[in-house]
Amino acid sequence: MGLLSCGTPLNWEDAKPLAEKVRAGGVEQLIRVFERLKDRTHDYLKWGDEVEYIVVRFGNDKSCHVTVRAEEMLEQLKTEMAEKSHSLPECCTEAMESFTATWHPEYGRYMLEATPAKPYRHDVKDLLCVERDMTLRRRQAELHLRPNESLLAIGNFPRLGCKDAFADPLATTLTNEASRSLFFPDEFINKHPRFKTITRNIRERRGEKVCIELPLFRDTNTKMVVDSETTSAFPGSTQNNTKRDTIYMDAMGFGMGCCCLQITFQARDILEARHLYDQLAMALTASTPIYRGYLADVDCRWNVISASVDDRTNKERVSGSAYIPKSRYASISRFIAMDPRLLPQYNDLNVPYNGKTYDRLIEAGFDDLLAKHFAWLFIRDPLVIFSELVDQDNNSSDHFENIQSTNWQTMRFKPPPAEDDSIGWRVEFRPMEVQPTEFENAAFSVFIVLLTRIILVYNLNFYMPLSLVDENMQRAHRRDSLKSQRFHFPCDPYREGCADECLTELTVNDIINGSDKFVGLATLVDQYLDSVSVDETTRGRLSEYLTLIRMRASGELLTPASWMRNFVQNHPGYQRDSVVTPEITFDLMKEVDRITHESQFMSRVDFCSHYSVARQT
Ligand code: ADP
Ligand code: MG
Ligand code: MG
Ligand code: MG
Ligand code: MG
Ligand code: MG
Repeated sequence: MGLLSCGTPLNWEDAKPLAEKVRAGGVEQLIRVFERLKDRTHDYLKWGDEVEYIVVRFGNDKSCHVTVRAEEMLEQLKTEMAEKSHSLPECCTEAMESFTATWHPEYGRYMLEATPAKPYRHDVKDLLCVERDMTLRRRQAELHLRPNESLLAIGNFPRLGCKDAFADPLATTLTNEASRSLFFPDEFINKHPRFKTITRNIRERRGEKVCIELPLFRDTNTKMVVDSETTSAFPGSTQNNTKRDTIYMDAMGFGMGCCCLQITFQARDILEARHLYDQLAMALTASTPIYRGYLADVDCRWNVISASVDDRTNKERVSGSAYIPKSRYASISRFIAMDPRLLPQYNDLNVPYNGKTYDRLIEAGFDDLLAKHFAWLFIRDPLVIFSELVDQDNNSSDHFENIQSTNWQTMRFKPPPAEDDSIGWRVEFRPMEVQPTEFENAAFSVFIVLLTRIILVYNLNFYMPLSLVDENMQRAHRRDSLKSQRFHFPCDPYREGCADECLTELTVNDIINGSDKFVGLATLVDQYLDSVSVDETTRGRLSEYLTLIRMRASGELLTPASWMRNFVQNHPGYQRDSVVTPEITFDLMKEVDRITHESQFMSRVDFCSHYSVARQT
């Protein structure tokens, strides 16, 4: 979830007066990196994924809960890693067996994150490493599971927030001092001091606890949901919602306790990084339709996380002089490329920025676009300040990262770290939802990497006003958006000059597979692969990934979200009341577990049958 500094975290009252100092220090640290590395060029493509998992435990009585095992497992994995780390290969080689993962803590004490031990490289063959690597990672972690536990790559635990989801004998007392949540106990927040502090400080900065209201899916017997305190683990806590018909959630854990799939790429230089940042600003996946035991009317987790860390005060959330239009967790708000095709009218969102930061960056030689990008990020206060780290010099990057890594946007523009000269300018693609299986996660990772190649090789121009990109993001959330929605898209992604865009509205199928309006991203990827020399085996395996993406886009295969929805609605215990009971959750988690493990041994065709539309009806 971002950088993990150590020390004594300050509470909000003590951190607030230091915000300006951290911002000012962060800007100087950024300037130092920029001055040193702005002309760095000819870096190769390197890339890596991040996959998040949750650990669940199944009970004999058809119960299933998340379990606070992450610290212990991380400790064991770290020891194991230290023993192996001497002999790591730089890339994908025959020595693949020794390829291991790096394991990271995440917000939930039941969550783990894994990245490849070393980034993959530009070789097309490296695209095949990722699935193997993801599978090995899973096996590595699963060695540390106890009987009846399971490591699942799912967007959200369906009953997270219900008492039974936290019925873990390892966490005996349940308290809510940090979040004041009715539903999410502090004992399930990572024990590193950063996490509880960030939870508490968001609430204190905001002036009240966070409020997430998600549209409820209305089935024939659905009763309006008004959360009564009877469902709460903490009677006496207050509820800040009034709306009926929504799934109400009130803790950071409902968002940051979700799992995602992210991809970071190293660009050739700062210009290419800025270019990719702009062109990749889109959404792609849907796998999270259930929250706090209810079917939701949305398929994605993005808006939930956005609200779960929204630290804006009341004044900052309504228009006026203090207005800040978005949560810290949001889609990007400004394009940043040095591209003549980026017309001023594409940056059409109201984006306030920190004046001091902007002035200082301009003075240091930043151009207007890049200065405004960072000055927008620097409108935020640092949420966690460690007292030991208040005073730093410009060779560090901790102040900069403090602000940067708590701006959780769809894309992140990552300057090279101050401490490691081997790393260049990078961008991170962040909107994707994690998929249950390694095959799917690899397919989406590989597809995104190939997308960056076609964007560069064919010089594609996906610019359109950012307000429409935001609109697309909201449409993508809707239930079954794949079938029900069209998305703004430029008529001519090949246009060269500064010609004003002509926009059209396309389905995901048009965008991926092509239609008379657009040739299709997957088609372009195929063309690209035909034009580079790839051996037959590699090409064949890459085609399997593309086929998965194509079949998802065409609706031949269900998204995980639709698949889970169908599973619930066809379950004998489902009462058509939108409630996903403990028993349904148990069966659903068992099914996800089964598919995950069987998929490692089955043909792609058999795999696809799990998600086929026909099988469900
Ligand atoms: P964060 O949580 O800040 O996004 P992580 O360290 O969790 O960062 O993940 C970073 C990802 O970037 C990993 O997949 C890693 O393999 C990858 N990576 C590391 N070095 C490079 C590099 N030089 N270029 C591109 N990607 C890299
Ligand atoms: Mg993470
Ligand atoms: Mg990470
Ligand atoms: Mg992270
Ligand atoms: Mg990190
Ligand atoms: Mg990341």
